[in-house]
Amino acid sequence: MKDLLKKLANAPGVSGFEKDVRNLIIEELTDYVDDIEVDNLGNLIIRKNGTSNSKKVMLAAHMDEVGLMVRYIDKKGFIKFSKIGGINDQTLLNQNIYVHTTTRKISGVIGSKPPHLMKEEERKKVVKHDDMFIDIGVSNKEEAEKIVNIGDPITIKQEFSQLQNNMFTGKSLDDRVGCCIIIEVMKRVESNATIYGVGTVQEEVGLKGARTSAFKINPDMAIALDVGISGDHPGIKEGEAPASAGKGPIIILTDASGDGIITHPKIKELLISTAESEKIPYQLAVTEGGTTDATAIHLTREGIPSGVLSPAVRYMHSPVEVVNLEDIENTVKLIVAALKIV
Ligand code: ZN
Repeated sequence: MKDLLKKLANAPGVSGFEKDVRNLIIEELTDYVDDIEVDNLGNLIIRKNGTSNSKKVMLAAHMDEVGLMVRYIDKKGFIKFSKIGGINDQTLLNQNIYVHTTTRKISGVIGSKPPHLMKEEERKKVVKHDDMFIDIGVSNKEEAEKIVNIGDPITIKQEFSQLQNNMFTGKSLDDRVGCCIIIEVMKRVESNATIYGVGTVQEEVGLKGARTSAFKINPDMAIALDVGISGDHPGIKEGEAPASAGKGPIIILTDASGDGIITHPKIKELLISTAESEKIPYQLAVTEGGTTDATAIHLTREGIPSGVLSPAVRYMHSPVEVVNLEDIENTVKLIVAALKIV
């Protein structure tokens, strides 16, 4: 599973440009499932037929990641960019990046003024992304325009790697972790119900793919597989985000203070009782910020009982997200066991 997560995390997939991730999932699952389809928006809908009942269960993980986009090229060939999704400006300064054109990836750096030229006051301020620029090494606008285009997506250049113990770091673990879980579940699952594994598009910019794919599938229940906040490091107060990496998947009970999802009692019961009977460690969470695809799915058509299962991830929406691989394995086990009894 480590190699699979590595491939998924290293692949580029800024919202609206999920093709590489989608192709990786298709490649992994072709031999294991009954149908693979890509809908009008680019969602990947994978079906594994049930053995006896007519129930439909939807699992959703978003394929997109937060990133940047080429907005403007100045006379000297420096690129100004917009943010796609929620990124803190501090995480961007002086990063190595790739601009992804339709045919290749171009290396660049997010430059900055050297400290030698900064006044004391300037040094204390956070540089806003609007004041940053990308240097791809060209000498003027014309040269840059031959290489990159307005609207090209940009990702941070960051290789997936292992820390101590079972901890791994990389970019876009939100939500390639979920994509990895769906792949493993679709390979292992045996259920009476028909299981739809969906790789959704454009979650980070408004839960868009979840909305259209849930409408198309019209499932009887749904579970979003996304990452949850791991609050086990300096800078987060006890009680603010009680989940920890390595302590089992988080069963989200409520997110965005109830504006997102309030998990359906049937789904809550299914996940908790399965974890208990299978002796899989789990954590419960009520969160005030952030939400997932389940928020869009549960309001589809006449309402779809939905829930969220999340491995805890540190430093979310930064290029150095951290996850414990054991949490991913335990999430897969929990879903596979729960789907056996639906
Ligand atoms: Zn996410």
